[in-house]
Amino acid sequence: MATYIILLGPPGAGKGTQAELISEKLGLVHVSSGDLFRENRKMKTELGQLAQSYMNRGELVPDDVTIAMVKERLSRPDCVKGALLDGFPRTPAQADALATMLGDLSGRVNSVPYISVPSEVLIERLSGRWTCRAEGHVYHSKYNPPKTAGKCDIEGSELYQREDDTPATVENRIRVYFAQTSPLIEYYRQRGLLAEIDGMRPIDQVAVDLLAAIEKSR
Ligand code: ADP
Ligand code: AMP
Repeated sequence: MATYIILLGPPGAGKGTQAELISEKLGLVHVSSGDLFRENRKMKTELGQLAQSYMNRGELVPDDVTIAMVKERLSRPDCVKGALLDGFPRTPAQADALATMLGDLSGRVNSVPYISVPSEVLIERLSGRWTCRAEGHVYHSKYNPPKTAGKCDIEGSELYQREDDTPATVENRIRVYFAQTSPLIEYYRQRGLLAEIDGMRPIDQVAVDLLAAIEKSR
């Protein structure tokens, strides 16, 4: 049966950073809904243009379009063994839709590690985040700096600050997270799938804790 793992946590908790570190070890493709929207925006697709205004305001893109986008991604051949989901689901309606989708794909959610980080830390994490233009690898000016300032260690490409990492948008994204996404903590706790991970530890330690929690659920 295919394995699906959901990384849950507020914006800036370290979901993308951890997904990059552990997806290969787990043998699962990293599927980030935020990355899918950014790719669509870059390619100027209809979906990208629709998503743009929501992303710029730090709002969630409507459930129906988000669900359709993720469903299409999970149906591709590289997801036959499952996926490591980052940024999806973000609402209870998305979580219900995912359960239906996985039923159709003969899979199920195995575990939901919730990376917890206090909200006052998130602003510092997001305002110091630098992202690789080519492949989206993530750095932090203080906590995970690149070897050469402004350049991705892996791709050599330029690092940029995301438009939605500005203080006003970050504040709204955190508000939106508490209002619309945090109910998923209880949603998955009630289903016996939640594993709380301390996201305040150094990046490599969080990865060790995550792998241990996921292993336990397999
Ligand atoms: P998310 O995908 O949850 O929004 P990211 O993985 O992009 O979060 O991380 C947000 C920022 O915090 C990045 O700049 C990243 O380098 C940094 N970061 C991630 N994990 C840690 C950690 N454990 N300690 C300190 N900084 C971290
Ligand atoms: P992220 O890269 O996860 O920080 O997401 C960036 C932005 O993309 C979010 O602020 C939303 O506007 C949009 N987005 C990403 N994932 C979702 C989702 N599951 N549901 C709705 N909007 C999303």
